[in-house]
Amino acid sequence: MGVDSNTLATWLADYDPSQITIGVVASHSSLQILHGARLEGFKTLGIAVGENRRRYYKAFPGAEPDEWLMLENYREMLDYAEWFRKRNVVIIPHGSLVEYLGSTNFRSLQVPTFGNRGILHWESSRDRQRQWLEAGGCTMPKVYTDPHDIDGPVIVKYAGAKGGRGYFIARDYRDFRRNADLEDEFTIQEYALGCRYYLHFFFDPTATDGFQVQGRGSHAGQNLGRLELLSMDRRDEANVDEFYKLGSLRDLREKGIEPSFVVTGNQPVVIRESLLPRAFEMAEGTVSASFELEEGAKGMIGPFCLETIVTDQLEFKVFEISARIVAGSNPFIGGSPYSDINEPFMSTGRRIARSIKKSIADGTLLDILS
Ligand code: ATP
Repeated sequence: MGVDSNTLATWLADYDPSQITIGVVASHSSLQILHGARLEGFKTLGIAVGENRRRYYKAFPGAEPDEWLMLENYREMLDYAEWFRKRNVVIIPHGSLVEYLGSTNFRSLQVPTFGNRGILHWESSRDRQRQWLEAGGCTMPKVYTDPHDIDGPVIVKYAGAKGGRGYFIARDYRDFRRNADLEDEFTIQEYALGCRYYLHFFFDPTATDGFQVQGRGSHAGQNLGRLELLSMDRRDEANVDEFYKLGSLRDLREKGIEPSFVVTGNQPVVIRESLLPRAFEMAEGTVSASFELEEGAKGMIGPFCLETIVTDQLEFKVFEISARIVAGSNPFIGGSPYSDINEPFMSTGRRIARSIKKSIADGTLLDILS
């Protein structure tokens, strides 16, 4: 169940545009979102479970919410829908919110939310992501349906795995058999060798200038909106990043040690400038394909991240998309080498707030919320 545009319009009709409050769950990229909202002149609301969570925001007065909603558990947010709407709250979703609520609850949360919640259906399954990204012209790592066909290093991803926990690398079929838990649902993907770049884009469907995304299919010949590149990161992943220091994979495996991919932090990066045209081509294709995913699709709105590996042939392989703000944008609360070119101090969090501010002024909130 989602929220249809009539319902959204009814809620917004009761909102006082001058009193809109940015609400965010206190985790993930909340410091950035709260800081950005404040820079754009919004009132802010933090949503948290546990006094400890609230207390640490005292250390960051520049982002401390004006008001808090303290809960016993995050699912209570569903019961507070009317409370949020009475306070003119617009929720900014991030990965932790979706994880804490569950994707079905998140989609049916009866509160105006930044971005397109409908896209979650496409983002939440590996098969649908592949369909979408390939339709957008991205090259993805090969998938092996039969483990006997493994002919080079692969990464095995379990369906319910979160943040790379529980993934493992296999070099051949024997390796796979030795490590795989065949009871669980998994995907076997080519292990793409190269360097990882997580590209943080922003799509503004209300802007008519700048790098305009060209529509395709039922939108052929139309400009869909402006695509911006805000920043780029690379994740620190424990313990695979430091694994090489301990010897060969074979030696370690004999001792029962496997590399893991648990995200512990993020580092800022930039990419070779000559790769930028291809980066934009992939992102443009992904955005325009998002409008064709189903009839009447609202398409991408706001921040999204293409998670890529660039090979030594200088080719991008896209292994995942996140259709919302990613925590990898946190190193750029003060701006990035890309966003600084256009406007200093423009984080993704602030860019979201700017988008809401402009839509309030133009009367186009329905185009950027769901
Ligand atoms: P999240 O949802 O937090 O993005 P996830 O659990 O969906 O994480 P992935 O992003 O798919 O996991 O992968 C986790 C990590 O595994 C990546 O950051 C990357 O280091 C590595 N990885 C994933 N797919 C590949 C691949 N095909 N080739 C090489 N490395 C990969």
